[in-house]
Amino acid sequence: MSERFDVVVVGAGVSGASLAWYLKRRGVGRVLLTERDKPASGGTGKSAAIVRQHYSTPLMARLARASLDVFQEQAKAVGFEQVGYLFLVPPGQAKTAQTNMAMQRTVGVETEWLEPAALKAKVGDWLNMDGVGGATFEPKGGYADPVRTTETMVANFKKLGGEFRERTPVRGLIRKGDRVTGLTTDAGDIEAGTVVNASGPWSIMLAASANIEMQMRAIREQDTVWEARAGRPVPSHSISNAVDATYLRPLGGNRYVVGRGFPKEYFDCDPYNYKQTAEDDFVAEVQRRLTMRFPTMEGAKLVDAYAALYDVTVDWYPYVGPRAGLQGYADFSGGSGHGFKIAPAIASELADWILDGKAKPDFARLSYDRIAKKDVFAGSYGGNRG
Ligand SMILES: Cc1cc2nc3c(=O)[nH]c(=O)nc-3n(C[C@H](O)[C@H](O)[C@H](O)COP(=O)(O)OP(=O)(O)OC[C@H]3O[C@@H](n4cnc5c(N)ncnc54)[C@H](O)[C@@H]3O)c2cc1C
Repeated sequence: MSERFDVVVVGAGVSGASLAWYLKRRGVGRVLLTERDKPASGGTGKSAAIVRQHYSTPLMARLARASLDVFQEQAKAVGFEQVGYLFLVPPGQAKTAQTNMAMQRTVGVETEWLEPAALKAKVGDWLNMDGVGGATFEPKGGYADPVRTTETMVANFKKLGGEFRERTPVRGLIRKGDRVTGLTTDAGDIEAGTVVNASGPWSIMLAASANIEMQMRAIREQDTVWEARAGRPVPSHSISNAVDATYLRPLGGNRYVVGRGFPKEYFDCDPYNYKQTAEDDFVAEVQRRLTMRFPTMEGAKLVDAYAALYDVTVDWYPYVGPRAGLQGYADFSGGSGHGFKIAPAIASELADWILDGKAKPDFARLSYDRIAKKDVFAGSYGGNRG
């Protein structure tokens, strides 16, 4: 006879691990979290893990706001560094940013607009102000350690009696008519009341195994790590830079993760077989943009350059929750390059949705059903800026 769980969550990235924990917090009896490798071995483990609340829709802003509470509560365990978050915008986006900030304040986000002079006074010598129209500043923002965050969620889950199996790939979902009834592993079939597909870009294949549609792209995202020369004034905040389409966040020890932000070219890849090192021309372009905007980074040493995966949905918002006409299945994937900092709050509301059968109306809109309903989201910045 096969094993049976109330809920099986597939994938121990930050999404699946957070959800598994929230399901146990809600008192679900038998919950299995299964991971084909180890926790955070997907995009999560390579995430810049910038924690910010600047979004252009109330839903995302309130989810980011709610997640911040979790990062603050678990700060030590998850390596949350509340260094503040800056969003640099060109003059043409200053008004949009301020409109979005007004909306963000209605859902409790603490955020401050800095005109160029105030920005310069705040940050000092490390910022070249050419072309900068101002910035939003979130004193409560920063970054977390994505691996420690995921490991903490898994540990929290196990402490409440959850069962975690690593190196246990799910080979396919078992579907009978309009119900997903379980899944197949190398050790045998497992029955489940609900299966949650939280397997990042691999969700595409897992869904396909049960003829479940998944409009999603697996995209190769390159990143670099630089070490600034000692003794120079350098940024202390996490920064999204919409002026030059870059992002930067401190790693500690004078080191920084630096990547290219939206808009840029996005390349599809096979999530089972993609090049995990960065291209030379990408590194050179990052260096050019980095030293142009942050002149004290001149001479910084390249420490690492790698590629990881984004799971990008049709509108850059995640697919979350059950789907119409399909029982026993829920999505939690499609973080689209910004899914780290919203994962805890999504996990909490998704756990409620699975257990109570209903979600807040704005949250319910995250269901994959939005594609058929022609009710997809539109963020004002585009891409993963949300
Ligand atoms: C380079 C980079 C920078 C980023 N920067 C930020 C940022 O600054 N801020 C932010 O908020 N977000 C950021 N993101 C996005 C964010 O990190 C992701 O959206 C989030 O981590 C995705 O987590 P996940 O759990 O949904 O998916 P994943 O981390 O991809 O986890 C999926 C897990 O499922 C497992 N799995 C797959 N198939 C199976 C199977 N068949 N059986 C069992 N297990 C399976 C995988 O091994 C993996 O561990 C970034 C992402 C990248 C790649």
